[in-house]
Amino acid sequence: MAKTPETEHPIKSYGYGACDTSGTFAPLNFSRRATGDKDVRFKVLYCGICHTDVHFARNEWGVTTYPVVPGHEIVGIVTEVGSKVEKFKVGETVGVGCLVGSCRSCQSCDNNLEQYCSKMILTYAFPYYDGTMTRGGYSDHMVTDEHFVLHWPENLPLDSGAPLLCAGVTTYSPLKHYGLDKPGTKLGIVGLGGLGHIAVKMGKAFGAEVTVFSTTEAKRQEALEGLKADHFIVSKDSEQMQAVTGTFDGILDTVSANHPILPFLNVLKPDGKLILVGVPEKPHELPAFPLIMGRKIVGGSNIGGLKETQEMLEFSAKNGITADIELIPIDYVNTAVDRMLKSDVRYRFVIDVANSLKTP
Ligand SMILES: [Zn+2]
Ligand SMILES: [Zn+2]
Repeated sequence: MAKTPETEHPIKSYGYGACDTSGTFAPLNFSRRATGDKDVRFKVLYCGICHTDVHFARNEWGVTTYPVVPGHEIVGIVTEVGSKVEKFKVGETVGVGCLVGSCRSCQSCDNNLEQYCSKMILTYAFPYYDGTMTRGGYSDHMVTDEHFVLHWPENLPLDSGAPLLCAGVTTYSPLKHYGLDKPGTKLGIVGLGGLGHIAVKMGKAFGAEVTVFSTTEAKRQEALEGLKADHFIVSKDSEQMQAVTGTFDGILDTVSANHPILPFLNVLKPDGKLILVGVPEKPHELPAFPLIMGRKIVGGSNIGGLKETQEMLEFSAKNGITADIELIPIDYVNTAVDRMLKSDVRYRFVIDVANSLKTP
């Protein structure tokens, strides 16, 4: 008999998954592998809802194998460790982000950049070494190789800290890598959503002078008063944009909707950097002239490696950085997704998994 997600492994698991391109989530029985020598098993407490979850659930990137159980901003408590696990103990609070595997021997892995390993394995909807699909944190428990498990800092809240595992490191890593983490850096953040609002907090914690670029006036007060950004600019207002021409060291563009990047190249200083972490459907138009006139660069960045993710969690704990969240029960997830797609959330949904997922 062919193995189903419910029977492929020995340990029963339960969660919410999508079974077709409608992306509608419903309760799902599946299974998890037995705890291997290097594995950490943990009960899921909280899991953030990331836009990527919806891309996979609806097969928008054409790579989904159903059923898909998303969730890669996962905080939980260890219930079992394998015989060779060195870093974790039962009862410890842990996190798992976007990655659960990589080759561990290529140049990227050697440099703690597992996210750029050509054999990296995503936390859900990705073939694992044993040929089964990985399944994420919209579920009762996880089992993960200890290398991909993070220690949770003591004073970091579990619920509002969960989104740091994807949104936090996605913004922290490029600011560090591109040298935009120095006090006094003139930093622009494009878009004030799940990624953008954390980027503002990271930038402020680094001591940067942070400007939020948004398409409308609507978020001015939240940006300046709520998130303590230094300035707010409506990017569609050419007068406001003109006034800051050539004044930014770097800009982190978090927007996934189609939009022109030329206005942001124009506000960079010479040697300024425009870093993309959003993925619009339509490729950006990249004019050469504004790059050449000022030796500007356009770069990208994808999440962070395990070492850097741990460092980001410690940095966030120390600087009081968490996501602004709306905590929801898991049976609210379909409504939450609809609202997220309409930007009707300030700024991230987090599922209260342990208190709302009742195993049948
Ligand atoms: Zn994510
Ligand atoms: Zn590798």
